[in-house]
Amino acid sequence: GDFEIEGKKYSPNPLNIVDTGYGLERIAWYTQGTQTVYDTVFPEMIDWIKKHAKKSSDMKSIYSLSDHSKCLAFMLGDGIVPSNVKAGYLARLIIRRSLRFIEKIRLDASLKQLVLMQVNFLKKDFPSLKKREKQIGEILFIETQKYKETISKGKNLVKRILHEKKTIDQNELVNLYDTHGMQPDIVKNIAKGEGVTVKIPHNFESMVAELHSHEKKEEACSDVAVNLPKTEKLYYKNHYTKEFDATVLWSNKTKGGSEVVLDKTAFYPEGGGQPSDIGFLKNNGNKINVKHTKKVGDAIVHDLDGVLEVDDKVYGEINWEHRYTLMKHHTGTHVVNGALRHLLGEHIWQAGSQLGLNEARFDFSHYKSVTDDEIKEIEKIANEFVKRKIDVEKKIMDRNSAEKKYGFRLYQGGVPPGNSIRVLNIQGIDVEACGGTHLNNIGEIDRIKIIKIERIQDGVNRVVFAAGAMADLHQSEEKEIYENVVKILNPFYEIEQKEGISEQLKVLSKMFSVPIEQLDKTIKRFLKETKIVKRKSVKNLKDACKNLFDEWKKARKTLKQKSFCTNVNLYTSECIETKDNKKVDLIFEVVPRDENPIQYAINKVKTGGKIGYFISGNRVTISASGNVQINLAPIAKEVGEDTGGSGGGKSKLAYATIKDPDKSSKAMDKAKKLIKKQLK
Ligand SMILES: [Zn+2]
Repeated sequence: GDFEIEGKKYSPNPLNIVDTGYGLERIAWYTQGTQTVYDTVFPEMIDWIKKHAKKSSDMKSIYSLSDHSKCLAFMLGDGIVPSNVKAGYLARLIIRRSLRFIEKIRLDASLKQLVLMQVNFLKKDFPSLKKREKQIGEILFIETQKYKETISKGKNLVKRILHEKKTIDQNELVNLYDTHGMQPDIVKNIAKGEGVTVKIPHNFESMVAELHSHEKKEEACSDVAVNLPKTEKLYYKNHYTKEFDATVLWSNKTKGGSEVVLDKTAFYPEGGGQPSDIGFLKNNGNKINVKHTKKVGDAIVHDLDGVLEVDDKVYGEINWEHRYTLMKHHTGTHVVNGALRHLLGEHIWQAGSQLGLNEARFDFSHYKSVTDDEIKEIEKIANEFVKRKIDVEKKIMDRNSAEKKYGFRLYQGGVPPGNSIRVLNIQGIDVEACGGTHLNNIGEIDRIKIIKIERIQDGVNRVVFAAGAMADLHQSEEKEIYENVVKILNPFYEIEQKEGISEQLKVLSKMFSVPIEQLDKTIKRFLKETKIVKRKSVKNLKDACKNLFDEWKKARKTLKQKSFCTNVNLYTSECIETKDNKKVDLIFEVVPRDENPIQYAINKVKTGGKIGYFISGNRVTISASGNVQINLAPIAKEVGEDTGGSGGGKSKLAYATIKDPDKSSKAMDKAKKLIKKQLK
């Protein structure tokens, strides 16, 4: 370095920053003179943990737990939902690390308890944490359960890897943690029990975090954005502009017509989960359709089915019905977002959205599945909001003052560029920075129908809903499906009550594992495969289907048993001479229904000198006496795979699963052939 201080050489820092170490917590530490900063900041917490831990001398773990529990109180209190990506993954990492410390010091308390204690310490200065107490507790409970489950599943996994590879390297360690949630310490312990030493790299946690740090890069605009003229966006200023006059500034011939940029336009370009507007442009009485519009730089490019030249004057009109429906769905996402937050908590955060004409979907962060009762409640709240007929305030605001006033919650749909942002405020329901097209008043939505809410990934749920006339359309479609299904079932079931259509269809869709549109076909098939002798009287459609489902299961069981048994001979036995001149009895039997096939197969060859293959349902079990030289595993494998199923096992006991019942006879022949081949 260039600088010499007291005989030592120093060079300038690449980053010029001042770090005086004057953090508030540190100043408190200096003034109190405790051993560590932790003793100053968390005295009650440390005492409490020490008192309740069996291994109270491990101060490092106790300090870490005090610090982590406070960190989690803030993270979860701020609305972060544990997941496998970004901040959510960091939260999960800290939760699991804390759980490991709890195990290590054998603390007689749950992580939930610790974090809620922190919330209580902090509530005076951070009352918002106290308000989120219920969700924080729930999240920690769920995450702790998940952690325990993965650990118990993982134990066998570690043993299996050791059995195959004899060792566990760094990559395997990261993989075990990342995909199976196995902490390296635990892996190390299990391995130790098996006599294998596992080395944990010192930067293990950063190796894991590294895997998840690759954020999706914004897709670069591939279009030639260069030198396209700027378009004045009429849709941005007034979302109700339906028609306008404009001049063509740029034109380019395409296969089906041309693409043009106008000096101004009311056509909304595709973006932010909203499809583009459609409509037409008129020039000299010539009507040209606008098929699609997109944003390229500052220009809006219209894709036309006819040709327009530069300087052409046009009159434009957007397809208002199309746009108005999208506006209802778009404004609806704000209302549904508000309803979700109202019922489920402040951690609800938009994770993506896509508007369509028939319905809209909206993805949001939430740490568990939404129950049917909650779905009903969310729909109710959303419709109560709509009935309040609140104005949708649209204001262009300076970024700083907008953030100061509303907080970062503004950026639900991502952070928009620029210093001024358009803030959309539906008083008391939702505030967001949003560039889409909105209604002036949420009353125009008319009504919202939640079609479904489902968990799409860890930490994310998706709500699908329809607004206004589309909600009515969905409802009448559902009614049609319902009535059709009732009609199909009518010869067999007399259904008394006919209310709760939506709800019952949802139950049926789950019961038969098909979307509601396929219920009629599926139920017809079930009826065909089931013999219902007498017409039954039932309370509602749900009960009718439940009965049908049960009957079908019964019928299927006997059908299966029958079909497997009818096309094979029931019992055979033959004597085979092996290559070393011994005699082996080869037997085949159908396993009686009340017998356990494996036990049955073992018993049949107990006396020695026997090989047996047995069928039960779609299962073939093969067994051999201890004194017979044979390896049954590859035989079972081949028999199974030959019929589209699978098979395997040990040398004296193996089994195969037959996928296609029509092939069971073939499978038996195959088994016999392969056994004979090995013996001779
Ligand atoms: Zn919006």
